Amino acid sequence: MVNVALLGIPHDENSSYLRGPAEAPPLIRGELISDAYSMWSETGIDLGAAGLLIDHGDLRFDGDIDPWSLIEREVARVMGEGHPLLCLGGDHAITYPILRGVRPRYPKLTILHIDAHCDIYDAYLGNRRSHASPFARIMEEGLTDRLIQVGIRTNNDEHRAQAERFGVEVIEAARCYDLWRDLRKLDISTPVYISMDIDGLDPSCAPGVSHREPGGLSTRQVIDLFQSIEQPIVAADIVEYNPRCDLSNMTALVATKLLKEIAGMMVKTNRG
Ligand code: MN
Ligand code: MN
Repeated sequence: MVNVALLGIPHDENSSYLRGPAEAPPLIRGELISDAYSMWSETGIDLGAAGLLIDHGDLRFDGDIDPWSLIEREVARVMGEGHPLLCLGGDHAITYPILRGVRPRYPKLTILHIDAHCDIYDAYLGNRRSHASPFARIMEEGLTDRLIQVGIRTNNDEHRAQAERFGVEVIEAARCYDLWRDLRKLDISTPVYISMDIDGLDPSCAPGVSHREPGGLSTRQVIDLFQSIEQPIVAADIVEYNPRCDLSNMTALVATKLLKEIAGMMVKTNRG
């Protein structure tokens, strides 16, 4: 059996506008382990099967260690057990130290990044760790072979210059409609890391985010995209769910649905 490791990373100190994403992991787990819903995913995988999910709980940031060192170390340790890893944020800044923990195991890697924003500012408000900058750090350090960004709808000239500089493949929201169910067009030939910013979805699907950006993707489109991945999904994050902005826990449920479908695809694509 392929197992899936879960790790909560409740850190939001690099959010530029609102705090709150650090409160997300227990709420997502609450919707996952709920009498209201089954734990079967659309992939035919039952995440409730005994032992399938290995939950490593939430990291604690109350010690002396730098948070980025802690995230990198713990991600590397959990991945050392040999299962695909799904991280629950937290804001998007955590993706950089996560990748530092993932990359040594995967000399070939493609990041599939779903977001309204490209998060590739060299620095934002003077902060190089900002949640608006993780992909600048990731590309500078060569932590992936390809970065494919999907659903982007806020790009400015600086972003476009950074994408050009780093060779990022940007599929803006306006160009997404021929992508669904045909990810083969992207010709992904390496293991895959999914970085799922909840604000990549349209705010009508997921209002619980710090930066609502209309004109986004539907929950269905994002699931279809995941289900078209053929290469092994080796790690993923679900970030930027902000419970303080949510309506009736609706976005917690959407984040949980995406968790179930990513985890199901992790099992399917790693079965070999
Ligand atoms: Mn983001
Ligand atoms: Mn975003």
